[in-house]
Amino acid sequence: MSVSFTTTQQTDLAFQRCLNPACATTLAVDQVAFACPVCGDLIDIVYDWDRLPVPRRLSDFEARWADRLNPLNFSGVWRFRDLLPFSPTDQIVTIGEGQTLLQVADKVGQYIGMNPGRLRLQYEGMNPSGSFKDNGMAAAFTHARMVGARRVACASTGNTSAALAVYCSATTYGFKAIIFIGSGKIAYGKLAQALDHGALTIQIVGDFDDAMHRVRQVADRLGIYLMNSVNPFRLEGQKTIMYRVLEQLGWEPPDWIVVPGGNLGNSSAFGKAFIELKHLGLINRVPRLAVINASGAQTLDQLVGNHGLTWLDGLPDMALAHSYYEKMDADGAKASTIASAIEINRPVNLKKCLRALDFCDGVVRQVSDQEIMDAKARVGAGGLGCEPASAASVAGAKKLREEGVIAPSESVVCILTGHQLKDPTATVAYHGTDQDNFEKVLGSRGVRRAGFANRPVIVPNDLDDIIRSIALYSEPSD
Ligand SMILES: *Cc1c(COP(=O)(O)O)cnc(C)c1O
Ligand SMILES: [Zn+2]
Repeated sequence: MSVSFTTTQQTDLAFQRCLNPACATTLAVDQVAFACPVCGDLIDIVYDWDRLPVPRRLSDFEARWADRLNPLNFSGVWRFRDLLPFSPTDQIVTIGEGQTLLQVADKVGQYIGMNPGRLRLQYEGMNPSGSFKDNGMAAAFTHARMVGARRVACASTGNTSAALAVYCSATTYGFKAIIFIGSGKIAYGKLAQALDHGALTIQIVGDFDDAMHRVRQVADRLGIYLMNSVNPFRLEGQKTIMYRVLEQLGWEPPDWIVVPGGNLGNSSAFGKAFIELKHLGLINRVPRLAVINASGAQTLDQLVGNHGLTWLDGLPDMALAHSYYEKMDADGAKASTIASAIEINRPVNLKKCLRALDFCDGVVRQVSDQEIMDAKARVGAGGLGCEPASAASVAGAKKLREEGVIAPSESVVCILTGHQLKDPTATVAYHGTDQDNFEKVLGSRGVRRAGFANRPVIVPNDLDDIIRSIALYSEPSD
């Protein structure tokens, strides 16, 4: 891929545009740029909606389900293709992503203090690679196919690389996966996927932020297609998570969407989805957005909550962020949380997330590893398992409930971003009886024993002992 840029034609229905309104450089949709070639800012995908055929009602999308033998209508991403119309339909990549579930979760709702029927969990762990990342990959691989890319790369805390590996292995367009991971920073479930699906896996000494820095250099140097969430096409795919939430609510927006914040791709995509739906007159009420950091990676919460960073019509005071990063570097601060998928101190989509927070009257909070692990155990006990990062959404909703920001009667959707089996180490350490393992995985992070642990009962291999234990421990609960 060459790096010479042509600007768009007036006739383009979809194009790429620099997020900085003072620059607003535009690029044709089939260009490959993961930063503005003029000012280096993020790139946004923009549509000329007035000239595009968009369904008059959201319920028109539902009708496509009746035609689900067509893979484009089966896909939970591409069923909504008119709302991300950047590619010809014959270039679309799909592996059947987005068959997800929005489930009323009253046991979890009770834990966080909601009235019955008001808390729902959007379970993105049902995607082919077990996390919401597949929504974005379907769109980014479509763009990669449009531009004829073959080698595709990402830096990852695990799920992006798992999704990348799955899309390369499940398709026949000649894609080769190259993934960069930091040493010791990837949950086993995710590493297992990268290896099993045949990705070239480059493990560097450093953390996610280091791996991210390197993959950008390598992508530049070797002309490899970058699949991190600086890739604006990924966010186009992730918009559809919100479309499916609305679809499952009969197109009635909830009061709140609560989502964990790492690189802030999801929160950014959700905001863009609502901006566009409102612009198109397809919704008239916009949910509020809550983005939840882990306390060990709380850049967004610090910048928004303590430093007053806001969108300011596209011209946020990024000097606030830069001095925050400088201080972080001077202190040698590294992100550290059991929620490895959000263990990120320099969120690449920060600016786009500010736009989402602005449009959706958003709030940001941080939750401790203890709160995350306790919430994760309650989610598991409520029927849908998730990985630690996902439980940050539930822990954050609990915090906002306690603060009175969320009322018990409001309708709340927490996004469960990734599957329970992604990170068995954290789960087994939390529930298990091995004290050394607990200390190593969780105690060292300030998580206390107790919480909601469901301990295995260790019994001698003796029938009477086993029967006594069952009598002792199997009191039916309510
Ligand atoms: C990637 C990921 C996140 C963070 O999402 P961002 O879009 O980077 O903010 C949260 N949870 C899980 C399970 C993830 O894989
Ligand atoms: Zn620019």
